[in-house]
Amino acid sequence: MARTRTPARGTGSLPLEEVLESKELKAMHGFDVHTLDDMLRFAPRRYTVPAALRSIHEVAEGEEMAAVVTVTGLTARSMRNRRGTLLIVDVTDGDSALELVFFLAKEHQVAWHRSHLRVGERYTVYGIAGRDSRTGTPQLTHPRYEEYEDTPEGRARAERPLPVYPLKKNVAQKTMRDATERGLEFADGLQRILPDAVLRRRGLLSLADAARALHHPLTVEDTLAGRAHLVFEEAFVLQAIFAQRRAQDERTPAPALRGDGPLRPALDARLPFTLTDGQLEVGAALEERLAREHPTSVLLQGDVGSGKTVIALRAMLRAVDSGHQAALLAPTEVLAEQHHRTITGLLGDLAAAGRLDGHADATSVRLLTGSQRTAERRRTLLDVTSGEAGIVIGTHALLTESVEFASLGLVVIDEQHRFGVDHRRRLRSKGPGGMSPHVVVMTATPIPRTAALAEVGDLDVLTLRESPGRRAGVTSFVVHESLPRWEQRMWARAGEEVAAGRQVFVVCPRIDEDDAAPPDPEGSEPLPPPRGVTETAARLASRPELAGARVGVLHGRLSTEEKQQVMEDVVAGRIDVLVATTVIEVGVDVPNASTMIVLDAERFGVSQLHQLRGRVGRGEAPGIAFLDTRVEQGSVSSRHLQSVAEATDGFALAELDLHRRGAGDLVGELQSGLGRTLQHLDVIRDGEVIARAREDAFPLVAADPDLADHPVLAAAIETRLADADVERS
Ligand code: ADP
Ligand code: MG
Repeated sequence: MARTRTPARGTGSLPLEEVLESKELKAMHGFDVHTLDDMLRFAPRRYTVPAALRSIHEVAEGEEMAAVVTVTGLTARSMRNRRGTLLIVDVTDGDSALELVFFLAKEHQVAWHRSHLRVGERYTVYGIAGRDSRTGTPQLTHPRYEEYEDTPEGRARAERPLPVYPLKKNVAQKTMRDATERGLEFADGLQRILPDAVLRRRGLLSLADAARALHHPLTVEDTLAGRAHLVFEEAFVLQAIFAQRRAQDERTPAPALRGDGPLRPALDARLPFTLTDGQLEVGAALEERLAREHPTSVLLQGDVGSGKTVIALRAMLRAVDSGHQAALLAPTEVLAEQHHRTITGLLGDLAAAGRLDGHADATSVRLLTGSQRTAERRRTLLDVTSGEAGIVIGTHALLTESVEFASLGLVVIDEQHRFGVDHRRRLRSKGPGGMSPHVVVMTATPIPRTAALAEVGDLDVLTLRESPGRRAGVTSFVVHESLPRWEQRMWARAGEEVAAGRQVFVVCPRIDEDDAAPPDPEGSEPLPPPRGVTETAARLASRPELAGARVGVLHGRLSTEEKQQVMEDVVAGRIDVLVATTVIEVGVDVPNASTMIVLDAERFGVSQLHQLRGRVGRGEAPGIAFLDTRVEQGSVSSRHLQSVAEATDGFALAELDLHRRGAGDLVGELQSGLGRTLQHLDVIRDGEVIARAREDAFPLVAADPDLADHPVLAAAIETRLADADVERS
């Protein structure tokens, strides 16, 4: 991952020009490393530790390895194809044998090696693992070697781990090592981010010692202790950022939403279902936060179908009951329209203010989208500005536009995966009289607790664990097309559902099949090109199982009006089978839909598949999801789909996904954008560290919010925020 570090200007970090030779300088610049601090925090990728020769079989060809060996013989012979001598030195570690190979142009070089590699003597050798192409004998070509001294100090020196840095083209490992070695002479001048008290409490090395341990370790333990400092440091900076945001919130006024009637109780009284205990609990926790005089930022996570919308609606009514407005933002217009339908449906005459049929206490719920006609839009904007509109529903674009609210008390952001700092920055001024509205972000893609601390550590996390009892749930099956009976059974089942008056979704990875095929996920089995919506819809029309079914299509190339029309037809039951791309992935709520068929399911991510199957089984009828694939049964992809099919809990699935993909990918999807520039911290592995760093960082920032006494930390925060901004843009 290319990192874009900004030189920590003004913090006194030494520019590398003052430390390195030009060759080393160029090598470091290749990694965008410009200061001593950046360089000594640039950790080796791994270490070469002298190991038994047996292990040469485990080392990939071309990788560096080391061993302590005894010389058993030397052979020199002229090379056939070019001038010079081939010197082969046979060595053993007492167990396995190895050849050290030197191609030498000059006779004096041969003599030099002969005098330094004596039969019967022991040496530590470092080289690139290889193998004689004809005999298969393990070889090290042009190894570096040192005499092995059989004293405690000698052994320690011989067995010390050698750092292996990532390399860019034309840069030798030695150049990187020379650069860091030279830098270590200035290690005492590094910018110390972690306060001494924290180092003591956590048993961490000082920064200078950590740098030495990392780049010039004597033992493997050293390398770990060195890294521990950097991991903690990174976690600490992150938590300090969150602590500062919290402190900033504490200084910002927000409208306290304390009104306890009449709308919210009126809605509760007319809900067509009983709220679950979980919904009531989360609702109460939310109301407690909304009543505060400072903006609250809540992440409300709950599996698909757990009933987050009604929680949001109750909170929004509380805002209206308190004399303010609320905005609900959805990621797409389709979802915004659906929310508008659902919410006006639930509210009935409570949403019909100003109309003859309106309830006496009614408010007005307005939809604001980019595709509305200008006149309609202007009217809505007027109502938003005058305060006539109590609840405004739109897409995230609402935030970027200059929509003037009369008195915005609460913003709910639905299905948001990338809720960034800038969102909140933008919202800050939107409240009444310079106040900041409260913010609730809802997501069905839960993240494990420690990852949440690392990524959205400035948000309060509220979690809905159960799903409403009425929900019939979804059973998932993997269908291998290599077994035609299964595939027939799948379509037959779809036909049965349609015959019973229910609806079927069919999701394809692409719009058209002639689109460029993405690479096969496993890179091995060549698969036919992924199915497209257009062709699939045509094919379904001639499937006997679906004879008479009304088939519709939905994808991103349709106009907004067309999409809207299709969704209306689906909701009204005028379409039986909807073939779509993942535009229906998030949030779409059609209680009558019972069957989800995902074609080429191996091309979708875990959370996508979970979201997709969450679209069915939302009403009375139980849902069934088919993950259809053409990969071979028993292949990695097939087993993976099987485990998705078996896991029904979104939380378990999120963990499964994290562990399968590792943190590297996770950070690509992170919500705050901060995580994307992490160098040392692994949000899965380092959960404990993150929690401890939080314990230390929050009190420090609370005592010194502007970090006047911690200028180095303040500068590190600025650098990290700048990095995150660069990565995002
Ligand atoms: P999500 O959390 O995925 O956004 P929704 O809010 O769309 O879920 O709710 C899913 C469905 O469950 C909706 O049709 C909603 O009306 C219904 N629902 C919500 N709460 C309850 C409840 N307590 N009992 C029964 N049905 C509920
Ligand atoms: Mg939803």
